[in-house]
Amino acid sequence: MAVRECPFCGKKISDAFRDCPLCHETLPELRVVKSSSSSGRGGPLRRGLLYMMIVAFVYYLLSANSPLKISVPFTPILTTYLLPMVFLAGLSFAMYGIFLEVKG
Ligand SMILES: [Zn+2]
Repeated sequence: MAVRECPFCGKKISDAFRDCPLCHETLPELRVVKSSSSSGRGGPLRRGLLYMMIVAFVYYLLSANSPLKISVPFTPILTTYLLPMVFLAGLSFAMYGIFLEVKG
């Protein structure tokens, strides 16, 4: 028998009760909430948007307009190929998330 916490008085009560035996409040229905971050809807979309945002931020930091002057030399292959590839991967993730959202 599972034990849950009463949302009104905070005491541990049995899962079988529909009313709290201590404070006599009607307990809300137990619902299984699926987190969207681990699986299911919105996962790829959010992840793709996060990748795109991170790439845009790094690209801005490495650009000449950045207020942060980077003294360490970095290879131009990073800004020429690597960052756009990660950006396109994020875009693909976001489009896949939108596709999953539309598909239902
Ligand atoms: Zn209670």
